[in-house]
Amino acid sequence: GLRWGLIGASDIAATRMIPAMRGLGHSVTALCSSSALRATVWAGVHGVPHTTTSVEDLLARDDVDAVYISTTNELHLPHTLAAAAAGKHVLCEKPLALSLADAWSMVEACRTAGVVLGVNHHLPGAATHRRIRELVAAGAVGRPLAARVSHAVALPERLRGWRLRDPGAGAGVVLDITCHDASVTNALFGTPVEATALAVRQGPWEAAVEDAAMSVVRYGEGVLTQTHDAFTVAHARTGLEVHGTGGSITAVDVMTQNPVGTVHLHDAAGSREIDVPGRRDLYEVVLEDFARAVCGAGEPTVTGSQGVHALAVALAVQEAARTGRTTPVDLAP
Ligand code: NDP
Repeated sequence: GLRWGLIGASDIAATRMIPAMRGLGHSVTALCSSSALRATVWAGVHGVPHTTTSVEDLLARDDVDAVYISTTNELHLPHTLAAAAAGKHVLCEKPLALSLADAWSMVEACRTAGVVLGVNHHLPGAATHRRIRELVAAGAVGRPLAARVSHAVALPERLRGWRLRDPGAGAGVVLDITCHDASVTNALFGTPVEATALAVRQGPWEAAVEDAAMSVVRYGEGVLTQTHDAFTVAHARTGLEVHGTGGSITAVDVMTQNPVGTVHLHDAAGSREIDVPGRRDLYEVVLEDFARAVCGAGEPTVTGSQGVHALAVALAVQEAARTGRTTPVDLAP
């Protein structure tokens, strides 16, 4: 198994990634945090043997094969560039960066260094989403026409920090959640072309940025997707609907971090539940695909350039909401 260095004493590393790494038989060697005290306490709680406040020290370790970067979003760029320069494979959190130029420079740096870059979008690897892509590719809905993504959730109390208050760290629901939606719809429909959107601040907090947004994205071939992303909705089911000329798919509870949810197909023959084989922890899937890519077999669940394309949709949605104008999605490197 891979030996991981963690950059960022984050919630997601603690709650999802360390358990998934250990579940796969990978080991967690070292943690880098900007605070020595937090590093010591956090590493103690999570059983990480070595800590440092220097990214260079972490990257110099021989017992680190790959780094998992889960710092706040503005730090993904410098941390990825440093890791690539040190010859370490990179699994980076989403959104990959705060600008497309930065994100492409990360892809380029990893390519030049010959290290794997994966982006931790957990949804495309989910068994439900793989099954939905298989159905669409097999023509189960005929020609795809539209999709609706419901990804409105309640932001847990412990995460109501930089996500609501710090634009410099890439706060806001669009960079947090809309990019996940795009990782799913890009994989289904190919090339996103343009976006229009509205975003608001509606939560019971002093948010500095939008905490709810709705967008419409046009893909090539005239497919329209619609998203509802929010930090403010406590009781909604999440979901994905795909509508085509010959059928519709309704998937409920599938925009989540857990391997749950149902998929139904509706067509001229009626409605039935679709079997979803191979359900697994979503983060284990990402880590396993990544480890295989490190061994030269296959690609990460979401590659660096796919991560940039997901970011490109989110940035177009953000810009459209800011300006009130339909905004092109810029996919060019
Ligand atoms: P956290 O706020 O938990 O951690 C981010 C950074 O904040 C850490 O690197 C840490 O810095 C600092 N930090 C953590 N706790 C404290 C504290 N008590 N006081 C001061 N600073 C602190 O972020 P998340 O885990 O929510 O998100 C991290 C990244 O992961 C983001 O890019 C986010 O978008 C992504 N994410 C992805 C998910 C997915 O499903 N793919 C889900 C959740 C998040 P330091 O390292 O210096 O200690």
